[in-house]
Order: sequence, then C-alpha cells, then structure tokens
Amino acid sequence: MTWDAVRVGKALAWERDEGYPNLQGQHCFFYEFLLEQMSLVSLDWLPKPAINQWQVLLAELRHYPQLTHDQREALVQRIATLVPQVRPPGTPSPRVQETPPPPPTEATPIRELEILKPQQKKVLYQLGLNTLGDVLRYYPRSYVDYSQRLLIKDLQPGSTVTVIATIRSFRCFTSPKNPQLTIAEWWVADRSGRMKINRYYMGKRYANKAWQEQQRKNYPTGALVAISGLVKETKFSKTLTEPSIQIIDEESESGGKIIPVYALKSDLKASWVRQAIHGVLPLVKSWHDPLPEALKKRHHLVDLGTAYRGIHAPQYSEELKRARTRLVFDELFYLQLSFLQRRYQNRRHTSPVVCAEGKLLQAFRAQLPFQLTGAQERVVQEILHDLQQPQPMQRLVQGDVGSGKTVVAVMAMLAAIEAGYQAALMAPTEVLAEQHYQKLLHWLTPLHIPVELLTGATKTSQRRQILAQLSTGEVSLVVGTHALIQEDVNFQHLGLVVIDEQHRFGVNQRSLLQQKGMEPHVLTMTATPIPRTLALTIHGDLDVSQIDELPPGRQAIQTTVIPASQRHFAYDLIRREIVQGRQAYIILPLIEESEKLEAKAAIAEYQKLQEMTFKGCRLGLLHGRQSAAEKDAALRAFRDGETQILVSTTVVEVGVDVPNATVMLIENAERFGLAQLHQLRGRVGRGTHPSYCLLVTQGKGEDTQQRLNVLTQSQDGFFIAEMDLRLRGPGEILGTRQAGLPDLALASLIEDQDILETARQAAEQLMEKNPELSDYPQLQRELQQRLERLTGRVVLS
Ligand code: ADP
Ligand code: MG
Repeated sequence: MTWDAVRVGKALAWERDEGYPNLQGQHCFFYEFLLEQMSLVSLDWLPKPAINQWQVLLAELRHYPQLTHDQREALVQRIATLVPQVRPPGTPSPRVQETPPPPPTEATPIRELEILKPQQKKVLYQLGLNTLGDVLRYYPRSYVDYSQRLLIKDLQPGSTVTVIATIRSFRCFTSPKNPQLTIAEWWVADRSGRMKINRYYMGKRYANKAWQEQQRKNYPTGALVAISGLVKETKFSKTLTEPSIQIIDEESESGGKIIPVYALKSDLKASWVRQAIHGVLPLVKSWHDPLPEALKKRHHLVDLGTAYRGIHAPQYSEELKRARTRLVFDELFYLQLSFLQRRYQNRRHTSPVVCAEGKLLQAFRAQLPFQLTGAQERVVQEILHDLQQPQPMQRLVQGDVGSGKTVVAVMAMLAAIEAGYQAALMAPTEVLAEQHYQKLLHWLTPLHIPVELLTGATKTSQRRQILAQLSTGEVSLVVGTHALIQEDVNFQHLGLVVIDEQHRFGVNQRSLLQQKGMEPHVLTMTATPIPRTLALTIHGDLDVSQIDELPPGRQAIQTTVIPASQRHFAYDLIRREIVQGRQAYIILPLIEESEKLEAKAAIAEYQKLQEMTFKGCRLGLLHGRQSAAEKDAALRAFRDGETQILVSTTVVEVGVDVPNATVMLIENAERFGLAQLHQLRGRVGRGTHPSYCLLVTQGKGEDTQQRLNVLTQSQDGFFIAEMDLRLRGPGEILGTRQAGLPDLALASLIEDQDILETARQAAEQLMEKNPELSDYPQLQRELQQRLERLTGRVVLS
C-alpha cells in the first residue's frame, strides 16, 4: 500500500461535508483509513516544522470516535492543511491548483469558515450564531470609548466619565439592617489611584445567595472593567454614582480607541467573544454590497463591508457613526421597499371607478347641521380623488378623538353608493357598530338610503334576510363588525369598505375579499394618532390623511392629576355635575394579568360605589366579561340618561359618543399609556358643557407625575403620541407583534427619524424608476432574504 494523497483528500472532504460522522467505508471507518494512510508517510517527506505536528495529529486521530463534533472538525481541518505538503520524493508539485472555494456569504455556515480557529467557532456556537450573517449582525450592545477615558486622580465631581480600571476586590451582601437592600461593592484601581464603587439593589430577590455568588463570579479580581457614571466626592474618596460597569478583560488589543461591548452568554469571557466575532472581519474587506452605487453616493452611505467593520471594530467615533448610519439605513430601507412593492402590487388590481361629487353628496351636505371643518373637507377630497382611480384605494385617515371621522366616512360611502356600488362600515365592537348604525339611520333615512346592521347579535331570520338583500344589491349600505367580510356574506357589487378605529386592515382580510372576487376600495380610520416615524414603519404601504383640526366650539377638557388620598374631591365634582343633570364615567384600573380579574375587581368597586359613595344615584357597569347584550344594555342605559355614572373597564375606550357626559375619572392612571388616557378623555367634552378629566394616581414617582403632566398641558393627540413614543418606546405603544412592528436590531424609531426619511425617499426613487426591481436582481434577493428573516422571527416567538 502507498500513500495516496488524492484518496486522503477525498476522504477528508467527505467526512467534512457529512458533518464529521466518522464515515464507514467499504473496509473500515474513516479514521482507521486515515490512520493507516498517515502512518505510511515517511517523515522525511514532510517539511521540518510539520513533523512534530504530524505526530500529534496521528495521536489525536486514534481517539477520533470519542471526540465531539467540534473537536473532530478542528482535527480534520488541521490534517487537511498538512496533507498538501506531503509529497513523496520525486513527485512533482501539483501544477493545476484546485479551484478556490466560492467567497463566503452571509449564508455560509461558521463551520466552513477556515479563517476561524476551532476555539473561536465554539464561542460563536455558544452565542447561538450559526452563519456568517448571524455573526456580522451580532452587533455590540455598547462601546467603551478610550478617548473619553480619564484617570482616577483626574476625576472632577459633577462630570460624567469613563474610567478603565482593574478590579481589586468585590463584595456583594444584603444589609443586615434592611433585608430589602443588597449592596455590591467594588474596589478598583488604575495607575493613578483607587476608588470604591457601589451599586444598590432593592428587593428580596437580591438577597438570594445564588444570585450574589453569580455576581462574584462575574467580577473576578484582576479583571479589567470600564466604568461610566457621574463623579461624586464622598467623605472618603471619589466615586461614580449610578455606575455602569462592563467587563472588558484587556486593554484595547486592536490598537483602536473604541472597544465594542457585546452581550455575553453563560461563562464566555468578553475578550473571547470579541476576538471570535472580529475573527470574521477580514472576510468582509471586499464584501458584496447589494445597494446600487448611485444610491449610496446620493445618500452618502458607506459600503456594506466598511459598515460591518466599522460597527464591530471602529477606530474612531466618526467611523462608528457612519457604519451605524449605513446599517440602520438598510434596516429601514428594505422595509420601506417591501411596503412600496406591496402597494405597487395592489395597484395593479382594478377597483370600481366612482365619479366625482354628485347630487347625493350635495343633498347630504345640505342636511348636515354643521359645516365640515377645513381638514375634513381636505380629507374628503383626497378620498374622492382616490375613488375616481381604477386602482384600489388604500388610505388611512388619522384624526384625533372627536375630529369628526364618521362624517368623512359617510361621505365616502355615499359617493360609492351614488356610483351604483355597495359600501360596508366595520367597527371593532358591536357597541360601536350599533352606535354608527343609529347615526347613519338618522342621517340617511331622509335621503332614502336603506341601511342594515349585521353583527353576531343579529337574529337568524333577520340575518338571512339581510344576506339575501346584500347579494341582490337591494341593500347598499351595511354596518357591522369584522364578521361582515369574513363569513358567508356576499355582496352584489361591493365598492368600498370602511374600517373604523382599527390600526390596520390586515393583508389577510384583503386577500379574503379578493378570493371572493372583490376589489373594493379600503378606507381605514384611527383615532390613535401615531407619529410619522411609526406610521411609516407600520403603515408604509398606505396613503395617510390627517384630520388635524377639531370642529369649532369644542371646550378644552380641564385635566387634573389627583393623588389617591384626595379622591374625595373627585367624587365631589361628580356629585355636583350629576345634580346639574350631567353624567360621568369612572374607569377602573387596568389589570393586565386577566380580563377575569379585571371584571371581578370592577364588580366589587361598582357595588361599593353604588352602596356607599354614590348612594341614591343610578350607576351602570360595563366590563369585558359581559355578554354583548349586557354591554349593549349598559351603554344604551347610559346614553339614554337612565344611568348617571358608568363604572367601566377600558372597554369604553374607543368611539363611544355620549355628549351629556362631562366627567371622566380614571383610577390608577399611571398604569395607562398617554395615548390611551387621551382616548379615554375623549369620551367627554363632546357636547357644549365644560368637561373634566380626573387622573387619580397611586404613584408618587416623579416619572409618573411628569408623564401625566403631558396630558394636563396638551389636548393634541399627535403631540401626546409623540411624547408617549419618547417616554415609553414604540413596542409599548403598539405592542410589537400585534401591530406588525418589525423587529429592528439597530434602528431606533425615536433617534433615527432622519435616516428613516432618507430610506423612504430612496425606496420611492428606486420604485419610480424600476418598480419590478428587475434591474436590481441582487437587491431583490436581499429584500427577499430580509423579509424571510423578519417573518421567520415573528413565527418563532
Ligand atoms: P371621531 O373622529 O372621534 O370618530 P365623530 O365622528 O364621532 O368623531 O364626531 C364627534 C362629534 O362631532 C359627532 O357628534 C359629530 O356629529 C360632530 N361633528 C363632526 N364634524 C363636525 C363639524 N365639522 N362641526 C361640528 N360638529 C361636528
Ligand atoms: Mg369615531
């Protein structure tokens, strides 16, 4: 038998491609074959430095069956690099070089990256990273900027600084006097001096021994840390208050001034993680960039490879900033591109063309008891313009509570009806559907337009009749809940669907309509105004109209924050209003755990209020656990003045319109978001009487006070929404998943508004030039991959 380099090479490749199973061949296992072959090699054939290695490898190979996957991988790789050097004397060196492997891409598995050491791969696997793309997108959580670093002896009280120092000792203990208080204490030193740093943890769970032990492990003596915080002078020494402490393990090894700090897992050391991730960076030097050159130039974007290097291993802060801008741009750009593409696809369907304003609309205007506001008029025109196009309208109307969206919707529906089509108005709840129905009856009966109401509560016989009338076209306007389009409802010729108080009309619902062969225009209306950045990010495929003006004569609602201990003042106010014939809402705290608990608390509170506080008054109760009929009865009784105080959970939040109600009392107001409080407040001040909103709070925190003060100072829904976004973040406002808020790794909808605008603009320009993106196959592919990543993530969580 002789040494056969070709067969050895093949065996190594097979073993690798199969994932290192120790393949069984015809006569023996992979490792036996290899052992046999390797022992045939006379050591003189090897270059000097390799001889030792060869023997080590041989020894390791004998244990191959016992090795883990990663160990096998490492071993095979080391053998594979040595094999080409084995040339029996007299054999000519191979002339034909093997074709080089294709350059790595985002999808390349880590195990195929020859540039990484086995140890580095192991770290990456431990972080849950499997492909090169995963590694590149494992962005640092923060950075330590050495250029901002100060020595301990130079710290000035009052300034915020970063200190790089070594841990000399660490203690963590629960105060003997106060079991709620746990203290962590570091002594750290640099070459100029030393100082003590403290961090305080409130709560019993920190008294836990295991937790404290973990802390001790996290901060071993001798470890290098970056500490940032505000310098304070104490009696004994200088210290940093509210410090952030990051283990950085070692002095900047790259020679750079900025050290990235990555999120760590299990027992990984910061420096291992950094080195493993930085290990792939040489691969992105000539990284393929799917963005067209012209686009990058126009928007001053660095290329993708530069961005990846800049975000992971910046040398100076400007480089980091440019890198971040590019990567944030990408996140937002591809999102906008997908919206615009969806819009473009939709536009290719044809919808009924509706003519301009005709007699019916004029008759409607003539009998309205008021004039449209300028904003209402503008939005009506925008809608009428859409309806005259053969493509389906996809418009969102945003208007603050009470801005008069219903009238606008009715005018749109009348335009469709006048052109010979049917229209449907959908509301999120039966209560609201009913309320709309009443209003439409009132407005449209004089115009001889038949209106029907179709909800889950509609009786079977009546339902059957309405369905028949809809399918023949006898009924041209129907009001209902979402069931309207989802069930066995068939329209003769549906021209327009209006969806009230809904964040958005799902893609699914639209395709449901399409399956029925319908391509109606769709108008969505929401009273939860969201800032433009958010709007672009979730409704990027819709046209947006704003009703940014309230009808004249609306009274400002006097809003007051009241500590719980002063609640009796609020009750007094309610009593005074009731004596004058007005009505009030009392909203009970949000109980997030369950609707059941919430209902139970509501019933108890209702009984207490009825029997004690407001004895002799007529109280009603509304909560989410009631049947539709019960809710309906409660609201009707309140609307008709039979009850004077409606005790309710937040089900009353949207749309309810009782002009005689003048007081809105909200318990535990600190538990609600500002936008939601603003919605609730919008239930009063709908008539001509002065109205009040009383925010009762338990919280004494300054934050609470500051947040609620936004409401006392402003009645502008857009301003409030903007503040809410700043104070709570977008996920809180909309609930990430439900609202379809995309998972953005780097982009902040608050900080990156400018980049968002640029990204939107760039996407628009591209779509204008080449809506199919046929000139940009690489861009198309990237878009596809990103969408898959995004949707993949949503499904998983
Ligand atoms: P929202 O936008 O909150 O849905 P509505 O459509 O329920 O508001 O309108 C609130 C109230 O204002 C209704 O009673 C409606 O009839 C009235 N309204 C609407 N537009 C005007 C207007 N231009 N002038 C006066 N009152 C109006
Ligand atoms: Mg409304």
